[in-house]
Amino acid sequence: MIPVLIVLNAGSSSLKFQVFDMPDGAEPELVWKGLYEGLGGSAHFIVKDASGAPLDEMTWSSGDPIGHEEALMHLVSWLSRFREERRPIAIGHRVVHGGDAFSKPVLVDDGVIQRLEALVPLAPLHQPHNLEPIRIVRRRLPGMPQVACFDTAFHQTQSDIATLFALPSGMRERGVRRYGFHGLSYDYISSVLKDYDPRLAAGRVVVAHLGNGASLCALNGGTSVATTMGFSALDGLPMGTRCGAIDAGIVFYMLREMKLSPEDAERMLYTKSGLLGVSGISNDMRILRSKAKGDVNAKRAIDLFVYRIGREIGSLVAALGGIDGLVFTAGIGENDVATRAEVMTGLPWAGFNLHEAANSAGGPQIAFGPGPTAWVIPTNEELVIARQTRSVLDAGQARLAS
Ligand code: ADP
Repeated sequence: MIPVLIVLNAGSSSLKFQVFDMPDGAEPELVWKGLYEGLGGSAHFIVKDASGAPLDEMTWSSGDPIGHEEALMHLVSWLSRFREERRPIAIGHRVVHGGDAFSKPVLVDDGVIQRLEALVPLAPLHQPHNLEPIRIVRRRLPGMPQVACFDTAFHQTQSDIATLFALPSGMRERGVRRYGFHGLSYDYISSVLKDYDPRLAAGRVVVAHLGNGASLCALNGGTSVATTMGFSALDGLPMGTRCGAIDAGIVFYMLREMKLSPEDAERMLYTKSGLLGVSGISNDMRILRSKAKGDVNAKRAIDLFVYRIGREIGSLVAALGGIDGLVFTAGIGENDVATRAEVMTGLPWAGFNLHEAANSAGGPQIAFGPGPTAWVIPTNEELVIARQTRSVLDAGQARLAS
């Protein structure tokens, strides 16, 4: 029987999963990947094999809604069909916030859950959804080892100054600092960069994770020295529905003059802003690109996105003291040829020598020397969770054996 790892990434109404084999001495290997979406309403389950071929699917009617717990138990029972072949031996979870305490993935116990719950106020819209499946597994599958893998942990290499806000020192002591997010994605890019260009992997690189959530990370020799997201996942670039960096004074204006409740203000900044808010059309780059020729608001939203990326790249290049390469990743970064081209041509001072045909073909290399190079590298956060889960299990076994 083959031992497998399950990787879970839970959102408010979705549960994404991947199942990995763990061949001896080699990378975890994807076997199946799937998704429950519409949880709490008309839910849909789909699972595909590693090549993307659909294997199975199911829909629940809105009269018969299922939540995360039913979805997880459905997944366990779906997997049990393969019991003779494959047996889950651990579950790795994406957890957005590890706070100051967790700079590495951790084996979950009740104490860890309590400490992660204490971080909910730092990521109120993400952390509770990440913790729910951990609690469900503890209740329904007692004894199943679980590993929490954090989006913040990769940035723990940053200097004190890079993470400090200019607030009274007591604020830093209560955890108000820059944390940074998308760390699982940056960890993946950092780990594979040497396969594309070993010299670049040792150099100064800006990685642009441009998905629904978007941020940039400055890597020096593969470690994070600065990033655009800060205390929360609201900071930095405009995103699909999040505003990115805004003047904190706007929040007081919303509360005091517009009389919005903190919840309504938060909802506006997280879910009604960004590409969606500026365009008034959609948070989906594909839709905005298809309308940008005739619709001034779609064009404005894209132009602002590209402009802000350019300005933030400038800031990270300053933190790095120069730039040897730029990497595009995630949904927009991997697929939107025009965004990549506009970002680079908008930075004439940086000297990117964009190769248009290579960019249209999706790279991997899309700008060539003598200036900084640029690349398209698909991210793989789930593989990082599988790697981290396995290394925590191996370390536990090594401790038991010693
Ligand atoms: P998430 O942060 O939810 O994981 P993704 O990384 O999947 O998001 O990125 C979603 C974004 O990627 C959306 O704006 C979507 O429009 C964009 N995207 C996906 N495919 C394409 C494409 N072929 N061309 C342009 N944009 C794309």
